Amino acid sequence: MNVEIIIIGQGLAGSLLALTLLKEGFEVVVIAENETHLSSRVAAGIVNPITGKRVVKTWLADQLFSILPGFYAELETLLEAKFFYPKSIYKPFESVSEQNDCLSKSGPDDYAQYMNITPDHEAYSKFIQNPLGGFEIKEGGYLDTNTFLDATILYLQKNKRLFNQKVNVEDIILTENGVSIGAIHASKLIFCEGHQATLNTYFNWLPFAPAKGEVLTIESDAIVTENMISRGVFILPIGNKKFRVGATYAWTFEDANPTQKALEDLKEKLNEVVTVPYTVSEHKAGIRPATKYRRPFLGQHPVHHQLGIFNGFGSKGVSLIPFFARQYAAFLKNRAELLPEVNIEQYLSLYLKTKNPLEPST
Ligand SMILES: Cc1cc2nc3c(=O)[nH]c(=O)nc-3n(C[C@H](O)[C@H](O)[C@H](O)COP(=O)(O)OP(=O)(O)OC[C@H]3O[C@@H](n4cnc5c(N)ncnc54)[C@H](O)[C@@H]3O)c2cc1C
Repeated sequence: MNVEIIIIGQGLAGSLLALTLLKEGFEVVVIAENETHLSSRVAAGIVNPITGKRVVKTWLADQLFSILPGFYAELETLLEAKFFYPKSIYKPFESVSEQNDCLSKSGPDDYAQYMNITPDHEAYSKFIQNPLGGFEIKEGGYLDTNTFLDATILYLQKNKRLFNQKVNVEDIILTENGVSIGAIHASKLIFCEGHQATLNTYFNWLPFAPAKGEVLTIESDAIVTENMISRGVFILPIGNKKFRVGATYAWTFEDANPTQKALEDLKEKLNEVVTVPYTVSEHKAGIRPATKYRRPFLGQHPVHHQLGIFNGFGSKGVSLIPFFARQYAAFLKNRAELLPEVNIEQYLSLYLKTKNPLEPST
């Protein structure tokens, strides 16, 4: 079988890149290990243009958020499934200084688009603490990642473009004009392996900083809102009186299993904001493909130009990947520039310094 591009991995990165490249007319196949604990299946899937206590726009917010609804709506039509839900995010103020910061930011045009400073506080105060009031972030939302990934599997299988297999570095044969894995030959291979890229001897010199995260699902009759709440933890309504709550961050961890400590930490933070009864019905953990400088990794291998990487989306895969999938498609199609902050060329010195002697050679 001859194709143009092999993608390794079918989390959010591999799936969204594959669908974007197919739309651009590339011949693509995806090879992925069938794994249930991947980050993309644990993720709450939230997109939020304003973050942090200082009420600032996230990196590239204007570019990312202007394309998100249209991007996912197009995929909902293609994949015949519903998985993207625009939602406001209510943020109760934690201090008077946060309140002041927010009110001063809400004036300028570039923030006004994302903020509602006159939400219905009383409606929220029936189930959460908000003595100082709060504000709503507009243009937030969430991706039901499991529905999206399942719909992508069906679509790729129907088009004979998905192969279920773990790929070891030894399975990859580099040729003069491309790359082969078994009977599949391509001119390029793009790794979208999530945190497992740290085991890939072609790219493990990049400064990854994987971060374990844990989330809960809670159930409550008394939390009545369509919007998300964010204070210490996020509370995301997912239907049927269920809410996703999270998330923890840990840069040192033993495995990808849920821990008692994270359960207690999340409940403690939840109890600081929620004033009504709830029960915990699920607890999951995953490992985010985070990076040391909090920017994704895009580009091609310094020596083996047939190998590329599309990874490092950390805790913001749902909002970052659509924008960068389009950018990578343009890069592959007509050598359009990659944003310097994400182009792995900037880490060439690390490659030269730490190049792993185990890296297979052509
Ligand atoms: C608790 C938690 C909460 C989160 N909440 C959010 C959120 O609210 N919003 C948000 O935007 N992001 C969130 N994230 C982050 C989000 O999950 C990631 O940004 C995104 O899912 C990363 O996708 P990925 O495809 O790069 O990696 P992964 O989801 O890890 O997928 C990697 C894929 O590669 C495959 N693979 C790896 N190695 C091989 C190999 N050698 N051979 C074959 N297949 C291979 C795996 O099987 C898998 O299919 C959260 C993450 C966690 C853990």
